[in-house]
Amino acid sequence: AKQRGKDNWVRFAAGMERPVHADAQLGAELRRGLDDGEFRVVYQPLVDLNRNLVTGVEALVRWAHPTRGMVSPADFIPVAERTGLIVPLGRFVLRETCRQAAAWLAEFGPEVVQKAGPNVSARQLHDPDFVDDVRAALADSGLPGEFLVLELTESAVLRGQQVSRALHELHGMGVRLALDDFGTGESSLSLLRAFPASIVKLDKSFVDGIELDEPGSPAAMARQAVARAVIQMAGALDLDTVAEGIENAEQAERLRQLGYSLGQGFHLAKPMSPEAVTRMLADQMPA
Ligand code: C2E
Ligand code: CA
Ligand code: CA
Ligand code: CA
Repeated sequence: AKQRGKDNWVRFAAGMERPVHADAQLGAELRRGLDDGEFRVVYQPLVDLNRNLVTGVEALVRWAHPTRGMVSPADFIPVAERTGLIVPLGRFVLRETCRQAAAWLAEFGPEVVQKAGPNVSARQLHDPDFVDDVRAALADSGLPGEFLVLELTESAVLRGQQVSRALHELHGMGVRLALDDFGTGESSLSLLRAFPASIVKLDKSFVDGIELDEPGSPAAMARQAVARAVIQMAGALDLDTVAEGIENAEQAERLRQLGYSLGQGFHLAKPMSPEAVTRMLADQMPA
């Protein structure tokens, strides 16, 4: 491989100026990183907006690259998807999340740790071994299926009998399915017909600016209308709701008033190491 500056590498990885062989090069690097154990899972708390308590976490992958430092998933997930490496990488994140969630469950009990969720890509869902991988991850960790949440987008689910069967099988194992980025092109109402979801995650784009209550501002009103419609739909279909990307107290309060029970965002808690989550959970244990 040739010497390249960090900026070039990141830009190729993001797919903006991707030369023909960039996928193959980054793919080989990913493969090596996977073999060398360079991937980590960080966890972002989901916070009960009424009680101000952590009741779950989203699992997010990080690449601790030996020379490039922490690499963001936005820079390597697309290539991992195109090269198929998302299957072994996703399996690692799944197993690690189940192992960690089972440890939290044993230490703090079900009142404190209600759910833990990794993101699942299209390639993983279409992998014929996916359901068996989930079953094995649960069995090996001892985590009951009810405590695992799989975050899916429309582009991941697509349509197709095989995926639908897999999702119903997972549902039968007690595993919960969350619709990620809800309200965007990545995740919409038609998805609700496709599989048995238990959670919808309102996309950050509807949270941004929702606190700016300028009367007559069409953009602000549209965001609130979507946020309200999603809550009503979730209530009618008996789905839990999470509002994503909450960056200030005003947004948290507005969403709470609209009826969102759970929130996620930098204002509430950033993605953090498992040790930091453990400290947060220990702090909120009843005395
Ligand atoms: P996502 O599933 O929508 O995850 C939420 C992203 O929003 C995370 O970025 C999180 O750090 C970020 N975020 C959370 N709160 C805030 C906030 O208040 N403000 C802002 N600006 N951002 C916030 P991250 O960790 O960089 O992940 C980006 C995307 O990469 C994820 O979006 C997900 O689609 C994908 N991803 C991450 N880990 C995995 C994985 O293990 N497997 C797969 N297939 N995809 C993953
Ligand atoms: Ca997600
Ligand atoms: Ca999301
Ligand atoms: Ca997203």
